Amino acid sequence: MSQIDVEQIPVLKDNYVYLVRDRATGKVGVVDPAVSDPVLERAKTLGWKITHILNTHHHGDHVGGNMAIKAATGCTIVGPKADRDRIPGIQIEVGDGDAFKLGDAAAEVFDVPGHTRGHIAYWFGESDALFCGDTLFACGCGRLFEGTPQQMWASLGKLRRLPDLTRIYCAHEYTQSNIRFALSVDGGNPALQDRSRRVDALRAEGKPTVPSTMAEERETNPFLRADQPALARGVGLGGGDPIAVFAAVRKAKDVF
Ligand code: ZN
Ligand code: FE
Repeated sequence: MSQIDVEQIPVLKDNYVYLVRDRATGKVGVVDPAVSDPVLERAKTLGWKITHILNTHHHGDHVGGNMAIKAATGCTIVGPKADRDRIPGIQIEVGDGDAFKLGDAAAEVFDVPGHTRGHIAYWFGESDALFCGDTLFACGCGRLFEGTPQQMWASLGKLRRLPDLTRIYCAHEYTQSNIRFALSVDGGNPALQDRSRRVDALRAEGKPTVPSTMAEERETNPFLRADQPALARGVGLGGGDPIAVFAAVRKAKDVF
């Protein structure tokens, strides 16, 4: 067992790519390289040698750098078994419950369909770090391009069970607009109001709002709170079925 260090690289308009380094062996994984050059440059600056790419799903802003990074480093590409045909250069296929080891650092893999049908997340439990791509965002969740509300609610349910301290390394800086929406359906939530102020202050200084923690998401993310009466009221439902509430919240966000 071993811990990881995480380096966050903002690229394109609002994507985050992560370098993950196993302290024990020095092996380095790149999570969802949208592009290659800034990633290779940062690794060089740090003196880190990229050995793996860890993809969460097939979208271009998550796999766009795969082949160039592989060509430059000879690294091994890891990705979702359920989407093997859409991950450029995939060599190691992983799925729900698999343990992937980056050197001595173990990550548990979760299948989290909804945004895409083959989306996965990587949880480095010993380091309290979750890499969840476009499934769970800070105060939001991914659009349902290839899945149903039922699937996405179940996927988020797997993640929601993780420990409070889990840091949520999602793939986009969408937090400020996510919070604007969240306030429209859960405006009476004091934890959300407080988060809104903290996030505005961070963004005013040009700082990232990612990672957040699972404790914070459970308290403020409307997509993790579809089983709360306040959220049902927020979308005009009487309560009851969390999937119906989740679907209504997601639909409201799509047109917000
Ligand atoms: Zn995506
Ligand atoms: Fe994305």
